[in-house]
Amino acid sequence: PMTTPLHTDICILGGGIAGLWLNARLQQQGFSTLLIESGALGSGQSSKSQGIIHGGTKYALHGKLTTAAEAIAGMPARWRACLDGSGELDLQGVRVLSAHHYLWSPGSLVSNLAGFFASKALRGRVDQVKGSELPAVFATPAFRGKVYRLSELVLDVPDVVRRLAELAGDSLIAGSATLEGDSQSGITGLQVNGRQVLAQRYVLAAGEGNEALLKGAGISQPAMQRRPLQMVLVKGAALPPVYAHCLGASPKPRITITTHPCADGQWCWYLGGDLAETGTDMSADALIAQAKKELGELLPWVDLSDCQWATLPVTRAEPAQSSNARPDNAFIQAVGNTLVCWPTKLALAPDLTDQAMAELQRQAVQPQHAQPASGQPQPAIAAPVWDTLFR
Ligand code: FAD
Repeated sequence: PMTTPLHTDICILGGGIAGLWLNARLQQQGFSTLLIESGALGSGQSSKSQGIIHGGTKYALHGKLTTAAEAIAGMPARWRACLDGSGELDLQGVRVLSAHHYLWSPGSLVSNLAGFFASKALRGRVDQVKGSELPAVFATPAFRGKVYRLSELVLDVPDVVRRLAELAGDSLIAGSATLEGDSQSGITGLQVNGRQVLAQRYVLAAGEGNEALLKGAGISQPAMQRRPLQMVLVKGAALPPVYAHCLGASPKPRITITTHPCADGQWCWYLGGDLAETGTDMSADALIAQAKKELGELLPWVDLSDCQWATLPVTRAEPAQSSNARPDNAFIQAVGNTLVCWPTKLALAPDLTDQAMAELQRQAVQPQHAQPASGQPQPAIAAPVWDTLFR
């Protein structure tokens, strides 16, 4: 027989950036919440992301001022306020890996830059840096290109997840939920670890897991799309820090490099961008060879001979778009008593939460239940991939 149900205002499924951010904000607004995580917190896309808090510059590479560029433009300032203790969530103490993200053009790709700087979205958000202002990796006579500083920052995402888990208080539950529901009402029944959870509203924030949850609950919409990537990791003791997009011949960055601290004191370059998007069909060895070739062309003065190499296949989960295009905004859709969401970017978690809270307000959902003492098993926090992939 079932034990007594757990009553809560809002029940969230999924403890990545979207679920954890929303959870902390709802707690702060006086809602009782339960957040159910089936794996480890951050273990989906979030802790595998590059941690760049975009301000829209990458979108502006397409040369047009999209709505995305507008929605995302405010995000770095909101995250910075959280980091200095004056924002909507207190993220003081979270490790900032770089106060700036950079863009570099290797050599003479002037035509591309012209379109780039013609973009209105960029005005006031990009400065060329020279001389002593250059990041150390570019401060060599061997470098002939140009470097621009973007108004974007790079965070240690596993550390963000750790802090958001602290802010979650008693709301976390480790377990796999079983759902019942339908496309009109949303979720009509939820069991986890042998307990029933009764909530005013449910939120599906399980990233790629949303698809199976929706199916399990008998909810037919919204549809999800996957965008696979194969990231490359380079680990070494003496790697210089690089936080930059390299501009190539297409509007997409040729390669995006972020640098992450490993538990053993070494550093890891994490390579994304076009390299990771076009590398999905390659074997790990072939992609590593391609990455070595790219880095040999772009940063030939950096000695990588003693480094270890690995790749990480990982999938972005997003709301389905026509022709598999990239969605630009955080996505949320109400299905009866359930909100289905995908932030589409880590950086957009604050925006996604605004949208979710606005929807709850529109539906006149008020705090009703005291925070339940769940007495449930607690989810672990995902270990960074740069600590688990090299063995
Ligand atoms: P996830 O982080 O995937 O979290 C979903 C959680 O739900 C997971 O913890 C999972 O275990 C859990 N879950 C799954 N199924 C269930 C279930 N049935 N029940 C309970 N829990 C479940 N964005 C940026 O803004 N900047 C970047 O630099 C950036 N770089 C990226 C690099 C890579 C390689 C990738 C893949 C993405 C990157 N992104 C970036 C995008 C960003 O990571 C994602 O948009 C964001 O992390 C998605 O967060 P989420 O909480 O929706 O999903």
